[in-house]
Amino acid sequence: MNEFQIIQQYFNQQKISRSDVLLGIGDDAAIVTVPKDQQLVITTDTCIAGTHFPNDSAAFDIGYKSLAVNLSDLAAMGATPAWFTLALTLPNADDDWLKEFCRGLFELAHPYHIQLIGGDLTRGALSITIQAMGFTHPNEVLRRDKAMVGDLIYVTHTLGDAALALALLKKQQVVPPALLNRLNRPEPQIDIGKKLRHFAHAAIDISDGLAADLQHILERSEVGAIIDVATLPLSHDLTALTTEEEAIHFALTGGDDYELCFTIPENHIHQLDFPCTCIGKITAHKQLDLRYHGHPYTTKLLGYQHFK
Ligand code: ADP
Ligand code: MG
Repeated sequence: MNEFQIIQQYFNQQKISRSDVLLGIGDDAAIVTVPKDQQLVITTDTCIAGTHFPNDSAAFDIGYKSLAVNLSDLAAMGATPAWFTLALTLPNADDDWLKEFCRGLFELAHPYHIQLIGGDLTRGALSITIQAMGFTHPNEVLRRDKAMVGDLIYVTHTLGDAALALALLKKQQVVPPALLNRLNRPEPQIDIGKKLRHFAHAAIDISDGLAADLQHILERSEVGAIIDVATLPLSHDLTALTTEEEAIHFALTGGDDYELCFTIPENHIHQLDFPCTCIGKITAHKQLDLRYHGHPYTTKLLGYQHFK
């Protein structure tokens, strides 16, 4: 198959079609319409084999996760997904691989009503770059730089599961399916992001580990935080396989959660009608103060490689 046949057969097959796409795949560029009263939110992320996913990952999971990480960035902005482009570099045109890749990609695209409107196809080491676009209303966007002293800090669902799955894979140990799912098929928190944009002060999606990503909010907002690590939400799948100290370490420093960390003023906690946990507070003291049941948190695991 040549390049154009591949594009036609695999990438131009999406079931959804949006009326705001005036020109999609097939011309030199796409043309879309942004609703008059809304703003465009744009993000891009590259996934490289061996770096962002194991070389032997299933094509379905690669397709799914490449879009998921971009949708997660839109979620952290409180945006509603609309369109995406795909720049794909492949070592060879393998039919089965392309079919599975597209199945994973479109399985996630469908429920979020995000349409593939263009891209590029080149030969080389496997690499996937997606640019995702969405909308927000002016003044309702979720940013990193608006956390205020006194805000409560929350995270959605549970943390550390994906990092444990990756650590087990690296050790060639059996990974429970629920944990593997958290690593390979993260659910972007679009619906929660859309709710948060009405009242949260700051938000970020957790891709590099809670401690590192919360630090971005603190730096951009010029504030500090006190976190009690004993309150971090941990799944039973995680705690069943780790000591408490390891579980906390995965939750604090493991990556690939794709949950949201956000700060809200205390008088809005009644609006939190989704799974989330308060883990601390924003302070004026510009540093991240980690506590364990109120006492200073110390661990010999800092900088420690799990299951070395
Ligand atoms: P050009 O000749 O301008 O480089 P291409 O041959 O790269 O254009 O692409 C032809 C059309 O197919 C364009 O509309 C482009 O956006 C689309 N396209 C190319 N690769 C992909 C892809 N991987 N996914 C979706 N659309 C693609
Ligand atoms: Mg062209």
